Amino acid sequence: MTATSPTPRGRSVLLDTRQAAPGAAPSTASPPSASSMSTSPPQATALAQSATPPPSPGTAPPQATPKPTPPRRGTPPPQPKPTPPRGTAPPEIEPEGASTTERVLVGLFVGVPFLAVLAAVPLAWGSGLGWHDVVIGLVFYVVSGLGIAAGFHRYFTHGSFKAKRSLRIALAIAGSLAIEGPVLTWVADHRRHHKYSDREGDPHSPWRFGNDWKALTKGLLYAHMGWMFNPNRTSQQRFCPDLVADPDMRRISRFFPALVAVSLLLPAAIGGWWSMSWKGALTAFFWASLIRVAALHHVTWSINSVCHTFGEESFEVRDKSRNVAWLAIASFGESWHNLHHADPTCARHGALKGQIDPGARLIWALEKLGLAYDVRWPDPARLTAKQTGSAGRRLGSMTRRRPEAAPGVARSPMIDR
Ligand SMILES: [Zn+2]
Ligand SMILES: [Zn+2]
Repeated sequence: MTATSPTPRGRSVLLDTRQAAPGAAPSTASPPSASSMSTSPPQATALAQSATPPPSPGTAPPQATPKPTPPRRGTPPPQPKPTPPRGTAPPEIEPEGASTTERVLVGLFVGVPFLAVLAAVPLAWGSGLGWHDVVIGLVFYVVSGLGIAAGFHRYFTHGSFKAKRSLRIALAIAGSLAIEGPVLTWVADHRRHHKYSDREGDPHSPWRFGNDWKALTKGLLYAHMGWMFNPNRTSQQRFCPDLVADPDMRRISRFFPALVAVSLLLPAAIGGWWSMSWKGALTAFFWASLIRVAALHHVTWSINSVCHTFGEESFEVRDKSRNVAWLAIASFGESWHNLHHADPTCARHGALKGQIDPGARLIWALEKLGLAYDVRWPDPARLTAKQTGSAGRRLGSMTRRRPEAAPGVARSPMIDR
């Protein structure tokens, strides 16, 4: 069955639910498309046999003609997506690249908050910044930042713990408020990053252009921001079929533009209401929306650039991932990136004693509340064996690990990479 589903970026993609992860709900919204019929011989044959007498020898079996889905008004008719032959995985890169409009939108969302940061210093010198703005900005920074660290990254991408449905939805919404793309896009890109880390196929390796200082400078810029303008789009069917099969995640991804509006306008509304003035709304919009978004963007992007170039290699890895202590608090523990690549499903990235990891502390609290369970806390035996530069250094707290998932429990093919 093939259904057309608009992505949050406004593109339409064809979601082939036959290829979705086990447990995907069969769609009954639209008839089977020509492409799915032509690549499903058993289904096509069964349909043909029930409708018509058996064909005479030497003639091709009749093909059932699917009823075309009428195109929505104002939108071009959907193009059938070439379906790979049965038994082969879908391509890793979507056949249809990102459009110019999409890349201009990325530029706006990257550039405007960055220009706001440049303008911030002279503004702060005067009377533009009030403590209301600081409080609102910090709250939104923490909510969206933890949504990325504990939600998009440790939970959705790597399955470091399991979550009740209410928490799953809350984490997807909180992460979306960071304006780093819809959850499906974020997870697909990040799983591809782990599959090819610092090798060809990695969407954002700073080592992409070579090892000399010139190539590395170019690579750092590319890993930090440039990669987002690459028209290649990671296939969600290939890298996150588990999330594509979840109606909640599809819906939250589809509502991404609305969540962007909430993330930008809600701080202004709160600022205006709190100070009962238009000026309060304006300064809150500037500080708690634009500056806050820009700050978190650059911290997250630093994990891709800085944490794959500089820092300490405490654990054995096949790539250039490193631990960067000075980014730990701002990134909610994400900058303990060397440990993360050494043991991607581990819920605590700052596993060594003294390494601050607010993301892990949130997961710990959620586990205490009963909202998170089966948390994959650091496994001392596994980590000690991988220690290099920090050999002999003790692991921190939260190293209790529950038994592994029972054999046969379906896990995404990518989360262990
Ligand atoms: Zn990761
Ligand atoms: Zn990485």
